[in-house]
Amino acid sequence: MDRSILLIYTGGTIGMKTNPETGSLAPFDFTQIGNEVPELRKFRIRIDTVAFDPVIDSSNVSPVEWERLAVTIRDAYDGYDGFVVLHGTDTMAYTASALSFMMENLAKPIIFTGSQIPIGVLRTDGRENLVSAIEIAASGAVPEVCIYFQNSLLRANRTIKYNAEHFNAFRSPNYPPLAEAGIAIKYNEPYIRKVDSFLPSLKVDTALETRVAVVRIFPGLRPEIFRAMLRVEGLRGVVLETYGAGNAPTDGWFVETVAETVASGVVVINVTQCAAGSVDMELYDTGRALLKAGVVSGHDMTTEAAVAKLMYLLGRGLSKGQLVNYLGMSIRGEMTV
Ligand code: ASP
Repeated sequence: MDRSILLIYTGGTIGMKTNPETGSLAPFDFTQIGNEVPELRKFRIRIDTVAFDPVIDSSNVSPVEWERLAVTIRDAYDGYDGFVVLHGTDTMAYTASALSFMMENLAKPIIFTGSQIPIGVLRTDGRENLVSAIEIAASGAVPEVCIYFQNSLLRANRTIKYNAEHFNAFRSPNYPPLAEAGIAIKYNEPYIRKVDSFLPSLKVDTALETRVAVVRIFPGLRPEIFRAMLRVEGLRGVVLETYGAGNAPTDGWFVETVAETVASGVVVINVTQCAAGSVDMELYDTGRALLKAGVVSGHDMTTEAAVAKLMYLLGRGLSKGQLVNYLGMSIRGEMTV
């Protein structure tokens, strides 16, 4: 066996099977994954497994688990060609985005996958997701943090969970798939991050600042409610979800509240509520007012990536100038600038 991967099970639907006595779903012993998916024995790849204890539904995943995952991969990094992370689909885009920022100088694939139907159920989508994710991770062809789901390999920090029911649950609206799996796995080379031999060694940063908020504006948002959200004691960063190309009301109370927030040292980043497309704060007066108030453009970043990037950058003890600079540029391929 010339290639090897580490398979990390964190929790989620994929690692469940029906308890024949009760009829309900329960996690199975993941170290016995070969019994559930005998196809894995046909790989000429060494597959080692490790499972979180306890395994958790991804709705309960927090930056504590992001750190655990990053440290697990860091400690095993030299021993494997790639990593597959099995994770619940609900917050997979957040965890995978966070890992993309926390793992600097990554030179090996970290492929997240999961399923909509448990692997122990006949109609599962988990089997194909797992088998292809392992093949991609072992190939070493994509040295990035990715999400593999329903035949598509997507850059993690470009991905959103888009559908709660369909097998095709994830989308990357602003960046093409990095690979598509049909009869063969076809890699989309021009869009895959290149790693050269001068790349410094892996650096894992686990210090994350969690005093951040996501504030989604809507017609009828009241001044006192908006002010209360932005004046929370200790707040360090805000992802402001605006309309269309980054637009927000031009009412005095709104713009003043944002300007005061920025002046008090809180970083505010503007992302669009639209699933696809980009913020352009120069396009309309309603965007310009935010620009003048000191809001940073999130360009075409997903909210998931913006939250993770904000936590990561705020955790690094940067000056305000450096922070704004890094926020506005692509550091892991997360935005088009
Ligand atoms: N609630 C589950 C989770 O995110 C759903 C899933 O795995 O698809 O952990």
